[in-house]
Amino acid sequence: MEKKNKKFYISSALPYVNSVPHIGFALEIIQADVLARYHRSLGEEVFFLTGTDENGLKIARAAEEAGVPVEEFAAKNAEAFRELKGILNLSFDDFIRTTEERHIKAVYKLWQACQKDIYKKKYQGLYCVGCERFYKEEELIDGLCPEHETKPEIIEEENYFFKLSKYEKQLKNLIEKDILKIIPQTRKNEILGFLGKGLEDICISRSSERARNWGIPVPGDPSQKIWCWFDAVVNYVSALGYGSDDKNFEQWWQENNNKLHIIGKGILNFHALYWPAALLSAGLSLPNILFVHGYVTVGGQKMSKSLGNIVDPVGLVKKYGVDTVRYFFLREISPFEDGDFAYEKFEERYNADLAKGLGNLVARVLRLAQNPNVKIPMSNQIQNPNVKKEINRTKKDYERALGEFKFNEALKAIWELIGFCDRYIEQERPWEDTENKLPVINDLLLAIEEVAKLLEPFLPETSQKIITQLQLLESTPLFPRLD
Ligand SMILES: [Zn+2]
Repeated sequence: MEKKNKKFYISSALPYVNSVPHIGFALEIIQADVLARYHRSLGEEVFFLTGTDENGLKIARAAEEAGVPVEEFAAKNAEAFRELKGILNLSFDDFIRTTEERHIKAVYKLWQACQKDIYKKKYQGLYCVGCERFYKEEELIDGLCPEHETKPEIIEEENYFFKLSKYEKQLKNLIEKDILKIIPQTRKNEILGFLGKGLEDICISRSSERARNWGIPVPGDPSQKIWCWFDAVVNYVSALGYGSDDKNFEQWWQENNNKLHIIGKGILNFHALYWPAALLSAGLSLPNILFVHGYVTVGGQKMSKSLGNIVDPVGLVKKYGVDTVRYFFLREISPFEDGDFAYEKFEERYNADLAKGLGNLVARVLRLAQNPNVKIPMSNQIQNPNVKKEINRTKKDYERALGEFKFNEALKAIWELIGFCDRYIEQERPWEDTENKLPVINDLLLAIEEVAKLLEPFLPETSQKIITQLQLLESTPLFPRLD
């Protein structure tokens, strides 16, 4: 019988293409990449998806402002997101644009499948274009959108609605029992609190006129465009072949109980309520885990165009190297809460952890191994039981941390092993009496090899460099001094 590997499906949220990527999205896509690489290292079959959301009104407006046809505008910015693959060394398997034919097919199919829960009604509400959603008066802060701090517009029109209210009990049950698991617990509590207040039906279309005629038309009613939350989220199944490749869709979605969406806290409601309700309505399987990260602030403030404090990940990579950027976001920023970016902290991490910590240790041990009296490898077994114990402890802490999405703690565990190796060198002084200290040097080389393996999901380039240096017994600085 053919042996089937466990499947692991992971998706990032789709960023809007009204502008180019900033570090908030970099955080999310790097987190997703670590998980994809880690699950591959466990021998699982991984499908890692990202892409771009292109159908929103704010994209039409941004294109208008730029004086560029919207198709061209969307395509250009989509390319900037796709290029993150090389820039951030990402391992995604597919990149979907919501303007692609395969996506539109899936959106139509889902709309048809939810027919019994879709109805038309006249509506007036407060609409934030930035969020592409309606707000209730009490959700606003001083009359402003809590995400964008802008005044919502009053919109009145006849739109299609989805019977979200019908799924309230079912959703509550699924979330309470962790069948749809929301991580961290604080976000799960937030959603359960929201459910406790009762759900209203949601608007899922807008007039083509208000949409600037940009977006996917409602099947059979070209006067309306489908609202992005019955469109964009569908990418999670359209990329798997819903509506175009049944067999692939069955394997990766319907029959796979290892489906994970990574999202930012601002779109939790849509992913924990709207999206699962649509899937329930269509009789489809649900995602298993929603992992919710916080926002990246800059110097303690929210990033915004008006504050002029947007940090460009491409510039950071150019100056500091891709693994420094990956390391900072995974180590310094909390996986669950908001975290702050500041250049001083960034450089501090570079100098202390990467150049001095990891870089120094590797260079030091390779220097010892380059002694002409040292014949390496002596053995691929660790000689000293304490070193072995320390490596095993590290692996255990690392696995537990990654199982709980605590990227920072997994890295902390690796750096504890680095610290242990430094102390071990000081204690054993293998540069004196080298011939009798060969087992020490050998153990250190094996410990560094473990460090490199554990680092692979986090710092893939550095991991590879260390492995190569160990093979050649040649050392070049992993993290050179900053100018
Ligand atoms: Zn808003």
